[in-house]
Amino acid sequence: MENKPQDRVRLGGQTLPLSRLREHAVEYATLFSQAKAGAGHAECLCSTPALRLVIRCSRAGRYHLAGWPGEGERHEAACPFHKLAPGLSGREAYSAEAIREGDNGVSIRLDAALVRSLTEPPPAKTSGTQREGRSRRTVGLLGLLHWLWEESQLTAWHPRWRRRNWWICHARLRDHIEGCFINEDPARTAMHIVPPFRPDSASQGTAAFETFKARLGRHGLRQHLGLILGEIKAVTPTPYGVRYALAHQRAPLFASAALDERVRRSYRPAFAKAAAEHDARRVGLFLVEITPKGNLTIVDMAAMLLNRLYIPADSSHEVVMGNALAESGRAYVKPVRYDGTDAVFPDFVLTDRVPHAYVEVYGIRGREDYEKRKIIKQAHYQRQGAELIEWEVTQPIPALSVRVPSKMAGPRT
Ligand SMILES: [Zn+2]
Repeated sequence: MENKPQDRVRLGGQTLPLSRLREHAVEYATLFSQAKAGAGHAECLCSTPALRLVIRCSRAGRYHLAGWPGEGERHEAACPFHKLAPGLSGREAYSAEAIREGDNGVSIRLDAALVRSLTEPPPAKTSGTQREGRSRRTVGLLGLLHWLWEESQLTAWHPRWRRRNWWICHARLRDHIEGCFINEDPARTAMHIVPPFRPDSASQGTAAFETFKARLGRHGLRQHLGLILGEIKAVTPTPYGVRYALAHQRAPLFASAALDERVRRSYRPAFAKAAAEHDARRVGLFLVEITPKGNLTIVDMAAMLLNRLYIPADSSHEVVMGNALAESGRAYVKPVRYDGTDAVFPDFVLTDRVPHAYVEVYGIRGREDYEKRKIIKQAHYQRQGAELIEWEVTQPIPALSVRVPSKMAGPRT
């Protein structure tokens, strides 16, 4: 399990494991409400002095804790509330209306409609004109996928966590969408995160999927669409396009040939042949509608390439590097771009060093702008006095292990 005895929080005078508060939020509702009315916040005990945590209460009355804005970097690298500095995330490019964090949770303004009126013409899409602006007013599907991954700390790895599978990803994602809204709909109903298949809970999994499907399609004068988040197992051709098989889910998703072509162009690394050779995984966020026959058709989607620990990678070389860093016992975070295409971040940030060290993977591109960017990045790290590990992919992978002072990393059992 990823829950360690160190993950302790102080809530209303009591010290408790965060995992227990998350699993039994309902039982602790009184303690939560007393703490909210009293101190107004909880505390994370990963560091000394303790760090404040926001106490949120969803509109459904369920309590949960969130990191204090702007303090993510101060938490210990393995702490569930740890975040990289704001400059290392595509999240910064969004305005407060695109991702609004409030007392009740987080509201996301997605640039795709989840409901279509059958009587009124569709509203003009406004997001296209602001795509490259500094203040995006809506979140695209890739932005939402990256947000979910980053918020659930699935962009990070720490050797203390030992393993990560879909069961863990699903549990964290479910926890983080609690109290979250996407275009006015509770994320829990608008989005189906494919549950891990287990023989003993298979019927609950099927029931959850049927409930999700029942919301889709025409209801009165409105047509509902939905979001599905799952691991892509296979993409196979059909007479009209392609069929997506998802891990842990029996029902496939269908895409037209035109959409398939666009998706492969937009998310090239996720569909590259080379990626399949390195224990890579792929996750998709699908906007779907239901056909009269009850099939699910993909209207739009975003795909993400991941290493074997479900940490994002921008190329198959980054899959190799991410796997190698974990095997070498390093703690790291993969910065994600969200919908931004021009943002420049380090390929990996090593969080077991103070100050953080960086990893750059140089592919065989030879393009002038790529070379230029490489020089700018190198100069940037030099100015910061940060340690930089560089890998030219035509060369053997450099030594990655590090002897870390016992105070900074390693299991503290
Ligand atoms: Zn902490």
